[in-house]
Amino acid sequence: MTYRLRLLLAFVFVALVPIAISAVLVTRYLPDLRRELVGDRVTTGADAVGALLAQRCELALGASRALGYAVAAKDPSAIRLAVRTGPAVYAASIAADGTVTTAAGELPEPLAGHVAPAGLATIGSCETSQSSPYAIVAQSPLRGSDGSDQGSVVVVLPLDEKYARSLAGTAHGDVTFVTGSEVVATSLPQALAATVAGNADLAAGSQSAVVVGDRMIAGVAPADGRPVTVLVSSTPAGRSLPLVPLLVLIVVAAGLVATLAARQLARLVTKPLTDLSEAAGRVAEGDLDTFIPERSGDEIGRVAGAFNEMTVELRRHIRALETSRDELRRNLARLGETLSSTHDLNRILTVILETAMVSVRAESGSILFVSSGRNDLHPKVTRGFDAQSAAGHNVKFGDGVAGTVAATGEARWGKVGTGPQDLTLADGEPGVRAVISVPFKSSGRVIGVLNLYDRLDGVVFDEGDVATIRTFAAQASAAIDNVLLHQEAQRLSITDGLTGLWNYRYLQMNLAKEIERATRFRRPLALLVLDLDLFKRINDQYGHQRGDSVLIEVAQRVKGEIREVDTLARYGGEEFVLVLPETKLAGARQAAQRICDVVRHRPFGGEGEEPITVTVSVGVAVFPEHGNSAATLLRRADEALYAAKDAGRDTWRLAVTDIDLDAVDLSSPGPTV
Ligand code: GH3
Ligand code: MG
Ligand code: MG
Repeated sequence: MTYRLRLLLAFVFVALVPIAISAVLVTRYLPDLRRELVGDRVTTGADAVGALLAQRCELALGASRALGYAVAAKDPSAIRLAVRTGPAVYAASIAADGTVTTAAGELPEPLAGHVAPAGLATIGSCETSQSSPYAIVAQSPLRGSDGSDQGSVVVVLPLDEKYARSLAGTAHGDVTFVTGSEVVATSLPQALAATVAGNADLAAGSQSAVVVGDRMIAGVAPADGRPVTVLVSSTPAGRSLPLVPLLVLIVVAAGLVATLAARQLARLVTKPLTDLSEAAGRVAEGDLDTFIPERSGDEIGRVAGAFNEMTVELRRHIRALETSRDELRRNLARLGETLSSTHDLNRILTVILETAMVSVRAESGSILFVSSGRNDLHPKVTRGFDAQSAAGHNVKFGDGVAGTVAATGEARWGKVGTGPQDLTLADGEPGVRAVISVPFKSSGRVIGVLNLYDRLDGVVFDEGDVATIRTFAAQASAAIDNVLLHQEAQRLSITDGLTGLWNYRYLQMNLAKEIERATRFRRPLALLVLDLDLFKRINDQYGHQRGDSVLIEVAQRVKGEIREVDTLARYGGEEFVLVLPETKLAGARQAAQRICDVVRHRPFGGEGEEPITVTVSVGVAVFPEHGNSAATLLRRADEALYAAKDAGRDTWRLAVTDIDLDAVDLSSPGPTV
């Protein structure tokens, strides 16, 4: 069920329920209410008519008294005047013997013919005639000055249908005057009047109106000065409307109107929500340019505003993500390219560091390597720091963040500070606010540490960043391991396994390079070939193992006598070759002598071993005096070595030359390249 339909039903329910309840209540209670109202009205009417009737009696009595005075004053014309001005219809003065002395007007029909209204119950009161009740007869006695009966004055007011009708308006109903059960006068038709009169006692004796047929009757009983019962009966309300069908019709009509209004209202209320949900749908489908007009400042307007802000923020976020993704993609491509194309460790570490920084948007970073043979880390690559920063210093194992990572092999990350959860940096680490530090491992051993510092957006690194860098570091470790392996293989391929000196292969490459350089720049170069004397005997006498030890120590002793730029290689067996760049004949001689001395000088052997005296013979050849190619120089030096052997060993000999040494000008500038 849609929200609009639910709202519609709610609105219809809210509107229809009170209407229906009202309809039921009206159907149920309206007749009672109406009856009560009519009852009140006729009761009030009866009281009012009773009062008016009493007033009329008072009037008649007053008139009769006044006329009495006029007759006593011998002014019988007042009797005629009284009839003429009304409301009396008949007035007369009657002598003590009953004769009418003066009369005016006519007696009402039922009384007609009576000269005097004989049989009045009492003199001096307002009565209806006992013989006929159709008039109000007021009679005042006339007395002489001695108190003798002088007759009376009679005033008659009609109590007829006309009078009854005249009171109907005041009574809010039909008026009927009744004596006993006889109708005196009525505004009703005779038949109805008889029915009403039949209930006169009931109505007059009750405080409230009584229901008779479709009428309600209220009555006032006779009293002093009010000689008849007054009845007021309601006029039937005519043919009453069919209430229930009418109310059903009203409810149905109200329902229709309510439904139409509710439909419109629901549409108005749900329209902004529909717009919102459609816009949200478009955003869900990827249309982030969706904009909802903010038509009002109400809750829905504010939701629309928040929605628009959300899409703007989303667009900005996606743009940033796309930029970051593109950068990451470029870096990954560069990383892949670098890994597959080079074994240059520094280049690979640089790309690894830059890719890691991009992937977590770090401001700076560094890669430290475990120093061989020492318990510390030294920086290999740094980014985002100046050259003087702490990022360029060694960090001891167990110190700060990187040192702890190196010592434990576990990654660390978080905020840098003094709080209980914060990380503390060592002296060798830079001053930053946040860090991720992960180890590079090879065969389970920590070989280095990758540090990433401070996120560009100022937020500390989160779990997602840590997971990314951990995975990345695992991959990078494999790449670094590969390079290190390659480097080791390369190193092994050009070094001698026993002595650690360069091997023959390296010597060949190096000698060729040095000769080329010396040739190009016309620089001197010396080549020495060393051969241990009677080494076979040492082997035979002390065993091969000691022979090996001697070879190792000879290598070390000779190494101690040469410069960093010189190249000492094992030529094979117990022979060595020494390349001395920038060395002339004199220097070469000195070097040869020093080597002979350093070998002979001290016997070989460690503690508890029998010392062995070893000597060496050296052949010396110099570029360009003894040759200008590697092969010639080697051959000449070899020949010189044999000469030294021939000379009794433990000495050096210079190669013989076939060129005129004096003709060679070593100081002249070389050819330009
Ligand atoms: P000289 O050179 O003085 O003429 O006599 P020599 O005994 O040194 O003769 P030669 O150079 O012909 O012999 C070389 C000996 O060096 C043979 C071999 O027993 C020994 N040798 C060669 N390579 C090694 C090695 O790697 N270890 C050991 N222990 N001995 C080696
Ligand atoms: Mg030899
Ligand atoms: Mg030898």
